[in-house]
Amino acid sequence: MVSLVGLTSADIAGLPALTGCPGYRAKQVADWVYRRFAGSVAEMTNLPASLVAKLAESCTLFSSTIDHADVADDGTVKYLLRLADGEKVECVYLPYEARVSVCLSSQVGCPAGCTFCATAKGGLVRNMTSGEIVEQVLQIQREQSHRRISHAVFMGMGEPLFNVENVVSAIRILHAEIGLSARHITVSTVGVPPGIEMLAEQDLPLTLALSLHAPDDELRRSLIPTARKWSLAEILESCRMYRAKTGRDMTFEYLLLGGVNDSEEQAAALAVLLRGIPGNVNLIPFNYVETPEGFRRPEREQVAKFRQALEVRGRRTTQRMVRGRAISAACGQLRSLRSRTESPGALSLVEV
Ligand code: SF4
Repeated sequence: MVSLVGLTSADIAGLPALTGCPGYRAKQVADWVYRRFAGSVAEMTNLPASLVAKLAESCTLFSSTIDHADVADDGTVKYLLRLADGEKVECVYLPYEARVSVCLSSQVGCPAGCTFCATAKGGLVRNMTSGEIVEQVLQIQREQSHRRISHAVFMGMGEPLFNVENVVSAIRILHAEIGLSARHITVSTVGVPPGIEMLAEQDLPLTLALSLHAPDDELRRSLIPTARKWSLAEILESCRMYRAKTGRDMTFEYLLLGGVNDSEEQAAALAVLLRGIPGNVNLIPFNYVETPEGFRRPEREQVAKFRQALEVRGRRTTQRMVRGRAISAACGQLRSLRSRTESPGALSLVEV
């Protein structure tokens, strides 16, 4: 069976079931999948019954099912999806007044090993396919049909640029088929220069968010083990190239861990490090998850001092709004454990 989700309109036109059909039939099928959010081929009521029967014999829509949903008071909903092979991933619905965002996973588990992250604990299981990535958006949109999704952020389980080809294919579908503006799609990375270079070549004005979390290599490598592969100098060079090619300002994510990376001296070093690369620093005070390192959330006053130390040096700074903390959908709290142990939990993330 071929899964229709993940195919482009051109791919759909090439399906054997559509051989001999007028060209507009493929567009009708793509409309049902990506713009009318059908749940099955049988719902495609403007197709001839013979074509519906043929499609149903060889094609499916969803390979995933919603296993569980946690709803927070602020409207955030964290979904646990069960994939065809039984693996589970999480994605999050984030309604705001003026926009609706979804936070997407790109891998089952994650190989990056960030010490503060719940998802990192189980390591990488496998990459998600482009269809599985897109399914997250369609599943959420079907559940939340009263509001149209306008933004997507790759900040869920996984490092998107370790699965860059499937992520790029999924982004092309989100943009060209579902209709999300490329400017409203954010890819968040710990810094994978070959992946950043590939993104820069896509000719799509995506937003690139670099998870920095430290102003020097030594501290950063202790927080993000996979960062040992590339130095900050190499990563920031690829960010400069991304900016030059796309004209897009960067976002620098900085998770504030009390007593670890939240001093004013570190803020000053960060300002120096980022000199010459336009973009804002998004501060994310740590959301508590239990870690062997005993990380803690910084004091509110310390966050304010850190922010001021950046701003007096001319660096635009924002602070991430906390969403979904009660359901463990806040940044750094997503995790894959629920899937395997049925223990409460979720993936990570969110706010853009
Ligand atoms: S923070 Fe992101 S990149 Fe780091 S381990 Fe967690 S999911 Fe992976």
